[in-house]
Amino acid sequence: MARIVGIDLGTTNSLVAVMHDDRPKILPDPHSGSPLLPSAVSLLPDGTFLVGESARRRAALHPHASILSVKRFMGVGLEHVDEQDRREHAFDQAAGALRVVLQDGSGGTQTLSPPEVSSLILRELKRRAETALGEEVTRAVITVPAYFNDSQRQATRDAGRLAGLDVLRLVNEPTAAALAYGLDKQEEALVAVFDLGGGTFDVSILQLREGLSEVLSTGGDTRLGGDDFDRRLTALLQEQLGGDQWSAEDLAILRDAAERAKRELSAVEVATVELPLSGGTRILQVTRDAFDAASADLVERTLARCRQALKDAGRQARDVDHVILVGGATRIPAVRRAVEGFFGKAPYADIDPDAVVALGAAVQAGILSG
Ligand code: AMP
Repeated sequence: MARIVGIDLGTTNSLVAVMHDDRPKILPDPHSGSPLLPSAVSLLPDGTFLVGESARRRAALHPHASILSVKRFMGVGLEHVDEQDRREHAFDQAAGALRVVLQDGSGGTQTLSPPEVSSLILRELKRRAETALGEEVTRAVITVPAYFNDSQRQATRDAGRLAGLDVLRLVNEPTAAALAYGLDKQEEALVAVFDLGGGTFDVSILQLREGLSEVLSTGGDTRLGGDDFDRRLTALLQEQLGGDQWSAEDLAILRDAAERAKRELSAVEVATVELPLSGGTRILQVTRDAFDAASADLVERTLARCRQALKDAGRQARDVDHVILVGGATRIPAVRRAVEGFFGKAPYADIDPDAVVALGAAVQAGILSG
């Protein structure tokens, strides 16, 4: 029987996974080997679309031709579009449904609904899976945030259909994370899923019982993620350099270096940052302690959301049996420490936090295929 794939259709990155010898495995890009597909789409002057890493890179130079993070617009109306969104994109709501207008850079435009944009990402993942498996892929399990309402879920199903995929099931992302860790096999457990991605933070409290998962509460912040930690590091670098006038190019160099330094500081105590600035190359050092101090309030904000989610679920931190880390930014040591301190137990972090949701989707696909 043809295989069913599991897909994490993420805000920043998307992944596809499949069961292989009774274990879920990510299907990476056959060319670059990268497991992640940036959730980016960019319109070219010839009317075709770039999807993934090339689209993400083109977006830096041609923002109006490109769209990142389309997930935020799935199944919602114009009232969910904020100031920052309007600065980045033109929107159209003529036919009642929200659509994004992309300008190809040479006078042409195309107007796409969010499900249409997402379908381009899904199509790319479908192609990736077909190349890896050597067979046609037509059926998928796709994950969605636990807080998605009916119209957001329907928009995700529509995206699948447009991509030529029969969406057998939508699975909540925190539930998928629990599946990846095999927690569904336990008779009963209270699970907290702490998901800190590049731009968003979600926390969910799940009750697992006899293989079923009930979402007791969700919380989070749609404008809090790894990017905010990058900004704090960028400010630290600027402080060391002195001065307050930065060209766009120099700022881009600083931000890039800050993101890399942030990753490095997850492994070492001191990161060395090389900055090829317009006025000459500078080499700085940043310590993990300085980074932790500069980002402590961000970590505290995630804990405040956890406190609220527990309250909404009518539970306390000590009632939680298992804590799962999801999202690349949970690699930050201070975040891990804070989560462990808050819940009073070591979180599950063995599975790559970027891949855990897609792996769980593949486990669900495996269950559906029997
Ligand atoms: P996601 O949206 O889950 O892919 O998360 C991406 C975020 O994780 C970005 O802000 C990355 O900079 C961040 N990230 C990835 N790897 C690391 C790392 N080793 N240490 C700290 N942050 C990381």
